[in-house]
Amino acid sequence: MKIICIGRNYIKHAKELGNSIPEEPLFFLKPDTAIQPKGHPFFIPEFSDNIHYEIELVVRINKTGKHIEEQFAHKYYSKIGLGIDFTARDIQQECKKKGLPWEKAKGFDGSAQISRTFIDKSELDLYNISFKLELNGEIVQNGNSKNMLFHFDKIISYISKFYTLKIGDLIYTGTPEGVGKVQVGDILKGYIGEKEMLMVEVK
Ligand code: MG
Repeated sequence: MKIICIGRNYIKHAKELGNSIPEEPLFFLKPDTAIQPKGHPFFIPEFSDNIHYEIELVVRINKTGKHIEEQFAHKYYSKIGLGIDFTARDIQQECKKKGLPWEKAKGFDGSAQISRTFIDKSELDLYNISFKLELNGEIVQNGNSKNMLFHFDKIISYISKFYTLKIGDLIYTGTPEGVGKVQVGDILKGYIGEKEMLMVEVK
């Protein structure tokens, strides 16, 4: 299985990092080893002094496909989950400055946090999914799928031009504004609506 992540999919987030607004979906990969084993805390890696949280809605692919047309993309997923795309912001900035790929900053072990449960899309209004991240009990990110630059079906269609999508592949669909640094001892909780989906302890 592969993990595909969309970058700069919320205008306010692209702007908070001083990035331009993409004209097409911007994506990158994480290896499957980025998935945190269930129930494990997240350990801040020794190579970074600035690990950021990024709360994101996650689509799980449930049918193999390539060159998927946008109008049929909805047939390729049935559930939505929640994840955190942990990012070594210091390393990412350095890579960007040098024009190098970001993988080192994005694909390290534990960098892909994922909810245990996924919600059936029939229970959601896909164009109005609110989600949020709490850091030590305070809301730090508040997002809604209506603010996505590229919506689920567009993303699936676009990615499938380049990569065959397979059952179990995860697509992290981008983070809203409010990203920030984690510290040892932090507790992160992610919600879709009022439903707690995800809890991560930082060590
Ligand atoms: Mg992200």
